Amino acid sequence: MSAERIIYLDNNATTQVDPAVVDAMLPWLREGYGNPSSAYRLGRQANEAIEEARARVATLLGCAPSEILFTSCGSESINTAIQAALALDPDRTHVITSAVEHSATMKLGEHLARKGHEVTWLPVDRAGRLDLARLEKAIGPETGLVSLLWANNETGVYFPVEEIAELCRAKKVLFHCDAVQAVGKIPIDLHRTRIDFLSVSGHKLHCPKGVGVLYVSKRVRFTPWLRGSQENARRGGTQNVASIVALGKAAEIAAQSLAEEQTRVRALRDRFEAGILAQVPGVEVNGDREHRLPNTTSLAFDGIEAEGALILLDERGVCCSAGSACTSGSVHPSHVLKAMGFSTPRARASLRFSFGRFNTEADVDAALEIVPAVVAKLRAASPGAGPVITANLAVA
Ligand SMILES: *Cc1c(COP(=O)(O)O)cnc(C)c1O
Repeated sequence: MSAERIIYLDNNATTQVDPAVVDAMLPWLREGYGNPSSAYRLGRQANEAIEEARARVATLLGCAPSEILFTSCGSESINTAIQAALALDPDRTHVITSAVEHSATMKLGEHLARKGHEVTWLPVDRAGRLDLARLEKAIGPETGLVSLLWANNETGVYFPVEEIAELCRAKKVLFHCDAVQAVGKIPIDLHRTRIDFLSVSGHKLHCPKGVGVLYVSKRVRFTPWLRGSQENARRGGTQNVASIVALGKAAEIAAQSLAEEQTRVRALRDRFEAGILAQVPGVEVNGDREHRLPNTTSLAFDGIEAEGALILLDERGVCCSAGSACTSGSVHPSHVLKAMGFSTPRARASLRFSFGRFNTEADVDAALEIVPAVVAKLRAASPGAGPVITANLAVA
């Protein structure tokens, strides 16, 4: 790792671990190595630490500790929730999701479709919004589950989760919410919002990678996916004590700092976005600017390729992202932006900047120097590159 200054504007990809979280987990890597299922003191202490973490996560989400399962990641939580819902009733094999989900949901949905499940991929409009009437129409007697994001990881755009939850309740259909990007950024109260399953990932919340949470409402009969005796026989595997303690600490910090951070991080994002829009011609925000996460901005730049931009930005210490990167390092046009009706050139000309707890005004200042310079350099290098924003509007 280089000691060079990093301007980390990719907090939706992962977050810096909070130093207080590292401090909280270290004893459980050093002296607290007991198996939480062991009956002697070393084991009991580990178990108590897990239960304290469970209570902290429950407080952040507004649910009972008994409704929290610890998993290995957000993707495991999503896979578990969807499989658990489909295991409940063999006659209800239809799954409803959207065209802009995270790859964990998308890949499982594609797999289920190949296995003979009917899968409905709800479209979104140009602003990334869901049409509730279409959701309502899609729900039928065979629908086993509705699985939708709370907030989109690429654009930050919210789905109307409260209304979706109400609709699913009225139609007596289970609802899983991928809240990985929402938890810790906006208030969530599961006492108030009737969600059956909710997925959380530690590393989007200033906790290390490799730990997640699945909330399972006590109203729901749960079928485990990974069988074993731990977590009340709901999720097998000796618990990752240090990471679970870390997630508990991260949840506690998030609950305490959410209100202040929402305002501070939003101000950084807004200043960056306004600065780019003012300084750089031919830029447009992708998605609804009103109903979106306070930390995210997805921007389309006329006349650039995100792939080239990421290289030049990386050389200058700026971390941000384009669509999902495949193994060769090349950038696929984002399925999210495509689903919003944007052309492939516009999707390829888009960059996502996502802010977080450890960003400063100085980061925004630096980014407002570097990003316009990189865009100008790319445009000068390929003056023939078309205006993706206006070209896109022409075909819409
Ligand atoms: C990161 C992310 C996930 C996956 O979480 P992992 O812990 O990396 O598996 C799922 N959904 C969304 C919206 C995400 O941003």
